Amino acid sequence: MNAEIMAVGTEILLGDIVNTNSQFLAKELAILGIGVFRHTAIGDNEERFTKALGEAFERANIVITTGGLGPTKDDLTKEAAAKFFNKKLIRHEEAYNDIRNYFLKAGRSFKASNEKQADFPEGSIILKNNNGTAPGCIIEENNKIMIMLPGPPREMIPMFNEAVIPYLKKLSDRVFVSKVLRIVGIGEGDMAERINDIIDKQNNPTVAPYAKESDVTLRITAEGKNEEEAKELIIPVEKCIRERLGEDIYGEGNTSLEDEVGKLLVDKKLTISTAESCTGGLLAGKLINYPGISSVFLEGMITYSNEAKEARLGVNMETIKSYGAVSEETAREMVEGLVARTGTDIGISVTGIAGPGGGTIEKPVGLVYVGLSINGKSQVRKFIFAGNREKVRQRTVISSLDWLRRELVKL
Ligand code: ATP
Ligand code: MG
Repeated sequence: MNAEIMAVGTEILLGDIVNTNSQFLAKELAILGIGVFRHTAIGDNEERFTKALGEAFERANIVITTGGLGPTKDDLTKEAAAKFFNKKLIRHEEAYNDIRNYFLKAGRSFKASNEKQADFPEGSIILKNNNGTAPGCIIEENNKIMIMLPGPPREMIPMFNEAVIPYLKKLSDRVFVSKVLRIVGIGEGDMAERINDIIDKQNNPTVAPYAKESDVTLRITAEGKNEEEAKELIIPVEKCIRERLGEDIYGEGNTSLEDEVGKLLVDKKLTISTAESCTGGLLAGKLINYPGISSVFLEGMITYSNEAKEARLGVNMETIKSYGAVSEETAREMVEGLVARTGTDIGISVTGIAGPGGGTIEKPVGLVYVGLSINGKSQVRKFIFAGNREKVRQRTVISSLDWLRRELVKL
């Protein structure tokens, strides 16, 4: 089975709204094991829409549209679909009553234009809209399935979850199970080199890498007669990947680096404080994203100026003068001064050149020193990050958290 996603709406073409519906649907379809080879965005124009629909059905047996189900004249998805499938639009009484009741409950007047939201191509399966007025619908015809969903994400997403997932699952007697591994500290290219043979070899389960700014994920998806069978298939492939990537895998499923670090700190009852220069609180902010962090995170300082480094952390002005504020020596005095003052088990200091200005040949933009003190022992690492100011700051935070994570698992 494969599907295409079609986002309907001139607003999308003009760039007025971001096509998050397609993104959502693409991810969900991947989880269901339904191949998606093309997305289309198309304006509110019946002729062009019908043409695109015909083309999509030449390639795929399922087309999912979002948008154009509303009451206005430019909402034409159902009308175009009816023509395409050669069907009449028929009033659906239950949907009609639902829509009217929705208006009554909301204290709004039910206008004649709203009635058209209760008309569907003859023989459609109606998908109730519990969060708005326009119901969705499904047409099944000659091995073609067209699923029409409303445009607003807050209506479309619940409708997809409540009605479309069960519908799609029933189309196939196979079950798909996915497991996501999260990787940090190595780029997508490095990871590919280490596991490419596994990715290439597999078709059940499939192994799909996906890189984001902060980390790389690997989704292992298996297909089986039932959940157990699919899960069994994942186990040996996951084991093989774990052997290759080891500690570069920081977690699985819906987690984040800061959640994993937060959990480790809380489990091990290790208190932490931070002293940041170029990241200006981003590192502390990330750590504090973890809901349970209050028992271990004691203090975060933003010591941006040399004076603050001296006054708050006791960094020697002579050190800054001789080696520079961005130097191994300063990072070390920062972290040692930090833990001496806060008394935490762990301290992290950050000093770097985020750019765009301030770089030299010896000390280029992107040069960052991170100091890490654990139970009285401090170390400093030098990094050189590529990218603009924002990227350098983000990468500093990720690398600092990842370094801390790798140290914590050893304790
Ligand atoms: P309505 O009944 O609200 O008119 P509709 O099904 O006719 O719903 P549209 O008119 O096409 O949908 O879009 C309504 C709103 O839904 C848009 O203004 C936009 O905010 C949101 N929306 C539509 N399509 C998308 C999309 N592909 N991604 C994200 N949001 C979208
Ligand atoms: Mg509309």
